[in-house]
Amino acid sequence: MSDKKRGLIIVSNRLPLSLKKVDGKYESSLSSGGLVTALSGVSKSTNVRWFGWPGSNIEDPDERKIANDALWENGAVGIFLDEELAHSHYNVFSNGIAWPILHYQSGVDFNEDAWKAYQKVNEIFADTVAQSAADGDLIWIHDYHLLLLPAYLRDRLTKAGKHCPIGFTLHTPFPAEDFWRALPVQKELLSGVLACDLIGFHTDEYKRNFIECCARGLDVSVSHDGGDITYGGHTAHTGTFIVGIDPTKFTSALSNPDVQSRIGELEEEYKRKLVILGVDRLDYTKGLVQKLHGYDAFLHQHPDLAKKTTLIQVAIPSREDVKEYQDLEREISMLVGKISGTHSTPDGSPIVYMHHSVPFTDLTALYRIADMCLITSRRDGMNLVAAEYVACQGGRFGVLVLSELAGAAAFMSQGSVTFNPSSVQQMADAIYKAATMGEGERRAGFETLGEFVRTNTSEKWGETFTKVLAGFAGS
Ligand code: UDP
Repeated sequence: MSDKKRGLIIVSNRLPLSLKKVDGKYESSLSSGGLVTALSGVSKSTNVRWFGWPGSNIEDPDERKIANDALWENGAVGIFLDEELAHSHYNVFSNGIAWPILHYQSGVDFNEDAWKAYQKVNEIFADTVAQSAADGDLIWIHDYHLLLLPAYLRDRLTKAGKHCPIGFTLHTPFPAEDFWRALPVQKELLSGVLACDLIGFHTDEYKRNFIECCARGLDVSVSHDGGDITYGGHTAHTGTFIVGIDPTKFTSALSNPDVQSRIGELEEEYKRKLVILGVDRLDYTKGLVQKLHGYDAFLHQHPDLAKKTTLIQVAIPSREDVKEYQDLEREISMLVGKISGTHSTPDGSPIVYMHHSVPFTDLTALYRIADMCLITSRRDGMNLVAAEYVACQGGRFGVLVLSELAGAAAFMSQGSVTFNPSSVQQMADAIYKAATMGEGERRAGFETLGEFVRTNTSEKWGETFTKVLAGFAGS
């Protein structure tokens, strides 16, 4: 089969599309996420189809069909789920049990019903994808919501006589073995993923941890170079694939007149200030509470700088149906109030907190004017904000202040100021170091970081992964 005609099926829990009902009819539009960009290059040589939940609960089968016709106009197939099942799979198991374990959060209560829902949803995905896949299609599955899907899919495809290379990318960390095995269904999840031909991780550390978990938990053999894991007669290849951004999306936005005028306004507003920027989903893995404590310590310890510093923190609402996230939001709001109350003067507040998404124009303008970008993740698969900030800085040479526990630190430590986010003092010192760094040092750091961001683009990531995956077509 020539590459030109090869089908590529992307499966993710959530489709990268929005579905809207307009005048009784459905309309779908492609959103601009990282995965969409990653596949822009690949879609030139393959016929891409997307499978996933479309983000709306539609119960009526006839309505689902009409909605699917609209999705199909963008090459997508919606997998509709009943509301309660979707809730158990997504909120309770994926985000309430798997997510914390993958990010080293202890004290998670296992829930049998949610585990059954997780299995059921993975089966529904497997049924839909196996039915639609053609012999020879590449199948690329994404993330922790679908860890069982590769095995379910392999089984169904084999029974149907279809040979399709299956790849999987985990977008979170993979924890160390002694942590991971606290999960009662860890072996089932590992064997689910091992049915793949290719398993991709963001860093070598996550890959190593995964291999170690397989070696200790299952009856596997691992190749001498550590890349191949054989289990039940099937060999899965593992690899590290650096996920990046599309830097041109940001650099071209910077020359857009609307963005330029926004930059002008913000520069005027903050002309006497040292601006520290934070952009995070409101998630405990991002270390927002720690960030506020570290910033508070910095303000206390450096009163001269405190007078002229502003932290602009964007906290993108996330998983608001999960109780831990509601509690976290309250804690953060309280801390923001405390910092503002303690350090504000008639000249202004040292903190601007936005608990909402910001338009892309504002985001790029903020990245541009910020003197430093502060990333405090306690754990983070990669962290794309780090790369976006670098892409937008151009010749300003702002400083990336980066938690050593973010996946991005595996590649972007050189050129950044790094620290451990569990230490309030280390964070305060890192902010101080960045605030007082000379231009020569900032420039040198930026050259290294800029090169990394320009080289490791999302497009390159998508092309590399699918190229390696295609190599399993004949095996
Ligand atoms: N972002 C967003 N809405 C905003 C501000 C930022 O969606 O109001 C984007 C940001 O540009 C980045 C993403 O959210 O691409 C966050 O990705 P990251 O890898 O840093 O963390 P994740 O949310 O995937 O854990």
